[in-house]
Amino acid sequence: MANGEIEFIKIKNFIDGQWVEETGVELEPLYNPSTGEQIGEIPISTPETSAAAVESSYAAYDAWRCLPIPKRVGYLFDMRRAMQENAEELALSIAVDQAKHISEARGEVQRVIELLETACGIPTMIQGNTLEGISGNINGRVIRQPLGVFGGIAPFNFPALVFGWFIPFAIGAGNTFIYKPSTQSPYFMQKMGDIFNDIGLPKGVINIVHGHRNVPQVWYDHPKISGVCLVGSTPTAKNIAENCGRGGKRTMLLGGAKNYLVAMEDVQTDIFIENFIISCYGSAGQRCLAGSIVALVPEIYDSMIEKMIEASKKVVVGDAMDPDVYMGPVISSAAKKKIDNYIDIGTEGGSELVLDGRNPNVPEKNKDGYFVGPTIFTDVTPCRTIAKEEIFGPVVSVMKISGIDDVLELIRAQEFGNGACIFTQNLYYTEKFIAEADVGMVGVNVGIPAPHPYLPFGGIKDSHLGTDKVQGKDGIDFFTQNKIATVRFAPPTGYYTGGEDEKAETTSKKPQDVRSCVAR
Ligand code: NAD
Repeated sequence: MANGEIEFIKIKNFIDGQWVEETGVELEPLYNPSTGEQIGEIPISTPETSAAAVESSYAAYDAWRCLPIPKRVGYLFDMRRAMQENAEELALSIAVDQAKHISEARGEVQRVIELLETACGIPTMIQGNTLEGISGNINGRVIRQPLGVFGGIAPFNFPALVFGWFIPFAIGAGNTFIYKPSTQSPYFMQKMGDIFNDIGLPKGVINIVHGHRNVPQVWYDHPKISGVCLVGSTPTAKNIAENCGRGGKRTMLLGGAKNYLVAMEDVQTDIFIENFIISCYGSAGQRCLAGSIVALVPEIYDSMIEKMIEASKKVVVGDAMDPDVYMGPVISSAAKKKIDNYIDIGTEGGSELVLDGRNPNVPEKNKDGYFVGPTIFTDVTPCRTIAKEEIFGPVVSVMKISGIDDVLELIRAQEFGNGACIFTQNLYYTEKFIAEADVGMVGVNVGIPAPHPYLPFGGIKDSHLGTDKVQGKDGIDFFTQNKIATVRFAPPTGYYTGGEDEKAETTSKKPQDVRSCVAR
């Protein structure tokens, strides 16, 4: 990528510490969504390759989990350092194939570094506990142990973040891992594979296999796989839940979303508008915490819509590498078609299209890119398609709500339950919203309620199948299992247990005969 020139990218699998070029398999083109140009190709790996990765990770498991924990965590420290040293190149790899705007790509890499820092605390987070004195000389002890080999599947929109959610926590806890990136954004992991080798990570601890569903399909009933995790759409999550349920695998499956931004009558307008832009148009609306529905009370409905339109018109759309651009393209021509289609049908039932983002103006070099500009519908009612389905693009539906109870009811009725944000200065609204919004992550006066890596991240309802969430201590819980030990520590036969019976046979001395530092 010297001088901004991108060499033709040939994505390879990373198996047993080696870059492996798949031969005789289908190769899919990889595009730059900012220009529509082909920039590389990616192998659609066979089930046999997926099975070979399982064997590699399984073979690595015993030695890896038996490594003293400071040494295991030492690899995470090294990975963090290497990521920091190569941060710009890693960010470029995301901006190239996923076309996340370069400034956001830098932010994503920084977040992964913070996730690694969090996972470096595993020696503390993985500790179990002991219950003393259950009965006489009986103690109970809970220890946390790794399970074995995990498989993880990533969506296109966070090629780095999802690596950070899964892998540092999984391998830090002593598991080994097979990772299937999205075929639409595989380049970041190609860079990471080099880092794994540079830091001397033992072979098989992380394998990377590219392809479609035939890669994870091998895992669902494979005896050497312990669990599967996914970040992706809800239909994919449900499909994997069914398959893994039959195979008896542990799962953590993060699904799709449809997030509300609610503004009450006492909203601080500037704060709302700034966060509305970040939330709805950042990453071209392709974030699981992106604002998709703006709910406004009648007092501010007309005036806020005016300001939203004015601010949206200032959003510069264009090449993900251009520092003057705010919003890059969406991921593919298919995604653009799908989003444009939602805009086509958005006016059904009386909604008004007040800002149309279809075919926005972009520079000549980007004319074949996959762009959708900021789009706003007003007077949207909850039963409309654009209000119910995940559009995953920069399309906003504005609804008029009568008050806090009304919007809480709407959020409760949704199938998704990822995030929701309220903009208010009123303590009652704030506390009521935090307590009653039927979602996993709530924001107050912030547009993207993404928790810091020390805290768990994840939704509820159709946005998250399973119980454990990613990152924080939850990240450890998913990748470990509890073992409970009940220990009776009766004295060994012949041990001096006190009393005056000097005839008792003893192999130990009376306490008064020995020097002891143990308090009695
Ligand atoms: P997707 O579901 O199409 O694909 C996700 C991954 O699953 C890809 O690697 C894909 O190859 C694989 N896949 C697809 N079908 C599969 C199947 N039947 N079996 C096994 N694997 C399969 O999702 P996407 O379009 O790549 O990503 C966008 C989606 O991800 C959105 O719905 C978004 O909300 C969601 N997402 C959720 C979160 C979250 O935290 N909840 C975060 C990021 C993205």
